[in-house]
Amino acid sequence: MNYDPDNIFAKILRNEIPCDRLYEDEYALAFNDISPQAPIHALVIPKGQYLSFADFSANASADEIAGFFRVAQRVADDLGLPKDGFRVISNIGRNGHQEVMHFHLHLLGGCDLGSMLKRGLG
Ligand code: AMP
Repeated sequence: MNYDPDNIFAKILRNEIPCDRLYEDEYALAFNDISPQAPIHALVIPKGQYLSFADFSANASADEIAGFFRVAQRVADDLGLPKDGFRVISNIGRNGHQEVMHFHLHLLGGCDLGSMLKRGLG
């Protein structure tokens, strides 16, 4: 699958559609999820055009990878997530139910999130 430059997160990066922005630098943009699944639900996306965690891990530069993950932790810190713990998720492809084909991390917290998976072993 090729990267689609018209995916919704690419449009957010180009300021073609708005987002509830939390942080931005040369490596990444963080914003609140439009349909939160927890009291705190932020998304962190790299500035570069990467389809998924797999694509980013394989093809991004060391600077992009370090810069991106440091933004993710910075945003988690800014949101106060480390105090009581939180969850970082990246959905990949069909089985992972990835809806937006621009790599992103979900940062979730603000309550007890329960066990990790409700389904997966049948
Ligand atoms: P995923 O299934 O991992 O691809 O998750 C995509 C996430 O993007 C979902 O949690 C959506 O609620 C979220 N989302 C989709 N459109 C927007 C938007 N315009 N602004 C913020 N979050 C969005």
